Order: sequence, then C-alpha cells, then structure tokens
Amino acid sequence: KLGTHVVIHDGEVAAERVGNIVQGLVRLRRAGHDVVLVSSGAVGMGMRLLGMKTRPRSLGMRQACAAVGQGHLMGYYAKAFSSLGVVAAQVLLTHDDLGDRDRALCLRTTLMRLLELGSIPVLNENDSVSVRELVEYRRREGAEVSSPVFGDNDGLSARVAVALDADLLVMLSNVDGLLTANPAVDPSAQRIAELPSVDEQALARAMGSSSAGTGGMGSKLEAARLATGEGTAVVIANGGTPDILDKIIAGEDAGTL
Ligand code: GLU
Repeated sequence: KLGTHVVIHDGEVAAERVGNIVQGLVRLRRAGHDVVLVSSGAVGMGMRLLGMKTRPRSLGMRQACAAVGQGHLMGYYAKAFSSLGVVAAQVLLTHDDLGDRDRALCLRTTLMRLLELGSIPVLNENDSVSVRELVEYRRREGAEVSSPVFGDNDGLSARVAVALDADLLVMLSNVDGLLTANPAVDPSAQRIAELPSVDEQALARAMGSSSAGTGGMGSKLEAARLATGEGTAVVIANGGTPDILDKIIAGEDAGTL
C-alpha cells in the first residue's frame, strides 16, 4: 500500500520513487509472488490538475479532486507497468464492498483471476462515492477500539489483505516505521524493528509520533492490528528507500514488522 506522500511530490507522481517500487512489484511477480497494489494519490493529482495549491477543506471538493486525479494516476500505473511487460488493472472499491459478503466474494474472484492472468491489480478507495478514508484520521480519546477510523487507504489495504488471505501487507509511507517517540520532540527516537503485537501502548505512542499523510501512524497501527488479527503479517516501512520491497522480502532489517 502506497500512501499519498510516497506517490505524490509537488502535485505530480514522484516518478523515480514510484518507478522503483513498480519495478520491485514486477520483480516479486516474476519471482512467483501474487502482488496487489493499493495506491493513494488521486486527490493529490486532482488538486494539481484543478490548479489547487492546498488540500481543500471541503469533503466534496476532495471527492471532486479524486474523480479528476484517479484517471491520471491510473494512466501513470498502466504505462509504468506496461513498460515492464505487465498489464495493470484498476479496481476501485469501498469499505462497504468489503463488508458485504457477496461483493467481497466478487472482488476476491476478480482479483484471483487477474493474478492468474499475470496482471497486477491497482486498487484505491472509490472516493467519489465513499469518504471512509478521505476524512482525516482521528482517534479520539476513549474512542471505541472496536470501530477504528482509518485514513489514506490504510484500513482498506488491511481489509483487502484479509479478504485475499494475504501472507504479507506492506504499508509504505514517508517514515521509516514505528518510532519509540515523536522525533520532532525527542531527537533520540529510534525505529522499532519488530512489534510482537499492536497493543494499546503502541497505539498511544503512535498517536504522539505521527505527522505523515492523512492516515498517519495511528491509522497504520489500527490497520496492522486488523490484518495481523486475521493472520496477515504487516511491515510498515519507508517508500523512499530504494528497493524496499526486495529488502523486506529478503528479511532485511527494514521498517517495523
Ligand atoms: N483515496 C485517496 C487518494 O487516493 C486517499 C488520500 C487522501 O485522503 O487524500 O487520494
């Protein structure tokens, strides 16, 4: 899963960074792994195309940006994958789709067929009809742990991973992983290489350490809790690290497992 801050730089697809990740995905595909990409960036691209300098405050405007940006984002992926001989496929979906048994089964079947065909599915939330992850992530003091709120496709990627019985979910953002403290407050903050389970203490720490994207670390840990609870391992890592997917699959010390 690629967050907005990995995909977009100055309103454009960060071609070098995303291109490196696309190459990594194709290498994994060729090595026999089934890979599905969940990518944000539609709102960010739409903003530039509509001449907006700052993220609109109105939800409807962000949905409009996504409607403009998604086609261009997918155009980038279609070209980038095709230049490496892989056919990309676009699937836009909502949390409601995943919560409905029939629709979730349809999604699973579609994705399975695409993978059999050698394609790489590229998923995003259908922001124009669903705003579950378009609103900024907030985990209010005392909020129901059973009903977490996600942002920037974090929750969507976890639910897709669960629907596919995925072995591994890799969430790439612009931070190295979960840190011991907020680096802005505590410069000695260290990356945590492995977190045995996502407990309340880890969630509380993440809430204080997050500035990245609309999802942030709290949203990522909530998503990690959802996925790991169903048997999918999760790695949170920096999408700007070259060949990050190869490093993770090789078991190198990268990000937070
Ligand atoms: N699905 C959205 C996108 O692709 C999430 C990012 C956002 O909230 O800006 O742009």
